[in-house]
Amino acid sequence: MKKVAISACLLGEKCRYDASDNKNELLLEKLKGFQLVPFCPEDYAFGTPRPTMDLIQTQEGCIARCNATYTNLSTPIQDYAKTFFDTHPDVNLLIGKDRSPSCGVCSARLYDEDKNLLSSHHAGLMVQEAQKRHIACIDAEAFQGFN
Ligand code: SF4
Repeated sequence: MKKVAISACLLGEKCRYDASDNKNELLLEKLKGFQLVPFCPEDYAFGTPRPTMDLIQTQEGCIARCNATYTNLSTPIQDYAKTFFDTHPDVNLLIGKDRSPSCGVCSARLYDEDKNLLSSHHAGLMVQEAQKRHIACIDAEAFQGFN
């Protein structure tokens, strides 16, 4: 059976920054028969609700920066991602929530340090770790469209 890592908010977990979810019944229907392993790096690292963050390109690389405090929040997200994929080495596919700075696959927005938009097609930090491990990744909206 295909083992799919998936953003928990897509399954109905109220783990978004404002304690809401992104439950998607059509997606859930298409996932019947898959073994689902939900993840939410931001809830794990910062709790829910929490301030929003954006991906920022700095001289040191791409970071997740808190919009309220300008703090670099990357390390706890990256640590969660490493532990998650170490714990689930047999994941075949990741389905991420579109546009999230953690879970977006080809849809996260990347800004420069002055918040000018550089790209709308970047990978979030959780996805970057999956891609390093050569795990196939797809945005939820694209998965729905292709299946
Ligand atoms: S971090 Fe990912 S799983 Fe968690 S709420 Fe944001 S998009 Fe959903």
